[in-house]
Amino acid sequence: MISFLSQASDLFPYTRDLRRDFHRHPELGFQEHRSGGVISKELSKLEGIKVQSGIAETGLVGVMDGGKPGKTILLRFDMDALPVTENTGVEYASEKEGLMHACGHDGHMAIGLTAARLLNDSRQDLCGTIKFVFQPAEEGLGGAKAMIEEGILRDPVPDISLAMHLWNEKPLGWIGITDGPIMSASEAFKVKITGKGGHGGKPHEAVDPIVAAAGVINALQSVVSREVPPLDSGVITISSIHGGEAHNVIPEEVILLGTIRSFTEGTRTLLLERFQEIVEKTASAYLCRAEITIEHISPAVVNDPGIAGILRETAAGLFPEAVVDERYRTMVSEDMALMMQDTPGCYCLVGSANPKKGLDAKHHQPEFNFDEEALIWGSALLVSAVHKLLQN
Ligand SMILES: [Zn+2]
Ligand SMILES: [Zn+2]
Repeated sequence: MISFLSQASDLFPYTRDLRRDFHRHPELGFQEHRSGGVISKELSKLEGIKVQSGIAETGLVGVMDGGKPGKTILLRFDMDALPVTENTGVEYASEKEGLMHACGHDGHMAIGLTAARLLNDSRQDLCGTIKFVFQPAEEGLGGAKAMIEEGILRDPVPDISLAMHLWNEKPLGWIGITDGPIMSASEAFKVKITGKGGHGGKPHEAVDPIVAAAGVINALQSVVSREVPPLDSGVITISSIHGGEAHNVIPEEVILLGTIRSFTEGTRTLLLERFQEIVEKTASAYLCRAEITIEHISPAVVNDPGIAGILRETAAGLFPEAVVDERYRTMVSEDMALMMQDTPGCYCLVGSANPKKGLDAKHHQPEFNFDEEALIWGSALLVSAVHKLLQN
């Protein structure tokens, strides 16, 4: 097979310049107009790719047919930045006050355009179709859902979906391609515990929702520790608690906010059912009422073992020195999960930190920056994997 590693290395100045241009001009979810414009311009230069823009506001899809018919692969790249004030000191730092590409999506767009160029140049050797999906609003705003609602999983329906994230939790040289779940399902909850307000000195005339909330919080701690099988994983985090204003007034209500995370459908159902039961029954044991609202943010990102195996093989072939980790999982979530729900696929993580160069701040931090060599790794891995998957 042609060495897409050397091709991606040759294209590195192109990739890096694009990444730095996106980095200078970060845009929040569904507002990626400038980024979308750059992507559209670059994709339009590739004669094999038909581009449709304005999907879910600022998203784009480029469709490219290979030399022969075959399967359809969807490649997804996210586009949005974060409301973070950059503190990296790099010369290509954000030019927009209070906004920053602090998750690496600038790199993802650059990798996407590089992969599109390399795949376009080699399209005669591909049997099948590639859908390049540039997705707005990954950071909790529902970009994947919006694009799916606008039909990106139809006509043609993808047979395989792939995505990657530059991963500063791990150094350059590490690649995470896990069989099964790699990122967790995520639900956001709000619990309103209502009692009866009254005088702080006369609790017997009131029904105290603060004590009930304390009981609920304590009772919830046993779900993960005592009910989730020890070899599986789950999280219930209460991240906010609000109730009362004065030292001598028992409030009417307490509001709790938090998140529930899981990797498997069984654990997810268990956590949700027990959460509801414990919150309602504990509140009622304290003579209070609990109202629960749960928002399903994202299912787990679950890799198809067959496709993950092909990607691991590709990675090991391209980068003989790399650590290819097949067990890594993280309790963060990703709306790529929605695109992978009905399509077998693989989501991989490409180590991008470099502590020796001081590039090891974590995602979403103002100091976040990655080793740009990871852009070559990401592009070469995706392009080679597509060629492997669309052989014959
Ligand atoms: Zn992020
Ligand atoms: Zn991200």
